[in-house]
This record gives sequence, structure tokens and C-alpha cells, in this order.
Amino acid sequence: MARMKILIIICDGMADRPSYELKGKTPMEAASTPAMDKLAKLGSNGLMDPIGKGIVPGSDTAHLSLFGYDPYKYYCGRGTLEAAGLGIYMKKGDVAFRCNFATSDSDLRILDRRAGRIAFGTEELAEAINGLEIDGVKVIFKDAVEHRSVMVLRGPGLSSKVSEVDPHNEGEIAWKSVATEPGAEKTADILNKFTRMSFDILHKHPINIARKEEGLLPANIILARGPGDVPDIPTFKEVHGMKASAIVGITLVKGLCRILGMEVPEIEGATGGADTSLENKTQAVLQALKDHDLVLWHIKGTDVFGHDGDAVGKKEFIEKIDASLAGLVDKLGDDVMIAITADHSTPTSVKDHASDPVPLLIYGKGLRADKCQVFNEHEVSNGSLGIINGLELMQILKGLGGWNDKFGA
Ligand code: ZN
Ligand code: ZN
Repeated sequence: MARMKILIIICDGMADRPSYELKGKTPMEAASTPAMDKLAKLGSNGLMDPIGKGIVPGSDTAHLSLFGYDPYKYYCGRGTLEAAGLGIYMKKGDVAFRCNFATSDSDLRILDRRAGRIAFGTEELAEAINGLEIDGVKVIFKDAVEHRSVMVLRGPGLSSKVSEVDPHNEGEIAWKSVATEPGAEKTADILNKFTRMSFDILHKHPINIARKEEGLLPANIILARGPGDVPDIPTFKEVHGMKASAIVGITLVKGLCRILGMEVPEIEGATGGADTSLENKTQAVLQALKDHDLVLWHIKGTDVFGHDGDAVGKKEFIEKIDASLAGLVDKLGDDVMIAITADHSTPTSVKDHASDPVPLLIYGKGLRADKCQVFNEHEVSNGSLGIINGLELMQILKGLGGWNDKFGA
């Protein structure tokens, strides 16, 4: 049996619940999506619990599961994934944290967790922090989008089993990190020293002095959370025997794909937001399909509208995805199987991830079709795939695509 290439399109948080603004329809139901509907009609459809029944997935844990990795076994913490997404290569023994530039007073009382959503100058502020040494441990620090950044601690005797510093509420004093397992006391102590040092360095930095003069909140403290270490995880190639590439904008998913050994090209205009260049990404998908067995196309914007509670914006963004998809499908060869799904639901009524299963469609030339006519949460519940678990997705795709050996004679 000839093997098919596999294109997995994950629209982050696309699945939803009925919305008041859309007269009781979900954004997927309300959106006009001729390209997705055509594939649903010609393909097999169903629902998927990304991680398990009732589990509210994170994007990282859900993607692990969809790639065929049990997230309860392989999840290594968000800090590690964000670091890898920013291109920081971690060594065994390193500990990574996600960080925020925040605003604090000299008692380390947090006045704004995002430093007024600072947009400019964080590169210079990060440079002032990067390379610090605390008790023989090196600080590797890199700015990311807006107020976000990533820190990797490198040195002997570190542990990721420490509590976080970010109090998550404004008006509270930055939390003291403590060891959550014996042996992590040194790391907690270094993290606490780092938090104080970050204020001492940043509050007098010229960028912050200028911000205050302009009436802006200074980005004068670093709040660390989400500690992670270097995972013991087999590559995608080792697990599935497939050469994979990921076309993705957000650092979290980028990082995960890099850790799994996938090729993750940098794509101009792929922002990980609603302003992302779908055009550049579809070009990159076509390019990647030429010399990879499996390509992931990840689109973040749907999740952003979900978190913002903007059902109309989400509907319109889904229509934009569909228009890009239409142009892409026309250019694909007959040897490419397409799966379209979401990593979790992000209902606009909840403004966060929810446990509701997500729609899934699988289309490939010559494969079976079921009775579904359009692609949305409601219609696919009648589909032939039933309700699958996220961990089964790769098996199903590989089986259909001719990648699995016969079991028995
Ligand atoms: Zn997600
Ligand atoms: Zn989300």
C-alpha cells in the first residue's frame, strides 16, 4: 500500500459552545466554511477528547497527546517548551521558567503583572539580566512577545521542583519560592535572590526611567513561573518513523515541536495572533510537504478570540482560515491526507479552555466518506469516527495512510 503524506491542521481552541451573539450557534456553525465543509462531506468525521474525558487541556499537553505522547508521562513544564520555542537549547540539569516583566514597588509588591503590557524595550531590559551569575548558577534570559520572557538557570545541583514567584494577583508581594520536593532548596533560594536582583537592576534602567517620564508603568521586576527541566522524550521520528515539520507561530508549540525533533522553520509574519500571515503559512506548508512525511499547520488566532470572549471575531477568523485552506487544498497532491481539528475547546462564553470534545475530520483521496455534510461540533457528532481519544489520532492517521504494518498474517 502506497503511503500517504499527512497534513494535520490544528486550529487552536476552535471548538466552542452555542453563543448568544451568534443566535445560539457556535462560531464554527455560524461561519461560512465551504472548504472545510467539502472535506467533511468527502471524508470521515467525529469528535475527539484531546487528553481524556473531562480533562481541560492546555495547548502543550493537548499537542503532546495528539502527537501520540502520553502527556502524563512526557509533559516537561511550560518553561522548557517556551525556552525551546525561543531557540534556547537546554542542557541536562538546566531549569527553565516562563517569566513576565511586571511592575512592582521597592517592597516587591506587584502593581501590574504585565508592566502595562509593555511592547517596546524588553530586548534591552533582557540584556541587562542575561548572563547574571548567582551562587555559581548562570542566568540565561531572553525576551519574548510583549511582557513575556523566558529564563534558563544553568549550574550544578538545580531542580525544577520549586514553587513560583508570580502571585497572579496585583497588590500582593511577589511570592517567595520554596522547594516542593527535598533537594530543591538551592534552586528556590537562587530564584528568590534573582527576583530581588531583577528589581535592583531594572528599576534604574534607562528604559524604565524613560517609561516613568512618559507616564508608563516601568517593567522593573521579573516574575518567574512554570518551572521545567529537560525531558527524556523520544523524537517524533523514533516514535512514528515519520519525518515531520511544523508550521507554527507561537513559541509554546514551536518549542514542543523542536523538542520532538521536528523541523520548525521561522516564518515571516507568523505571529501566533489574529494578525498572523495565513498566506505565508500556507506557502510554508506546501514547501514542507515536499520533503516531509507529516506536516503540522498550527493556527493560534481562534484561541485568542476564545479567550477574549469574542464570538463574532472568532467566526470571522474561522472564515479567514477557510479561505486560506481553499487555496491550499487546490495545490495539494492526491497523496496528501488531511486532518482538521482543534487542540481543545476555548468557548467564548467561558473565555478559557474547556473539556468539551473537539470536532475532527479526516480526508484522503480514495478513503471512505460518512454522512456528515458540514464541519462543526454538532454535525460531526453523527460521524463515523465516533469519539476518539487524542492519543489515538496518530494511530488512526497512520493506519489509513498506509504507515502501520499488518498485525498477524
Ligand atoms: Zn491550545
Ligand atoms: Zn488558550
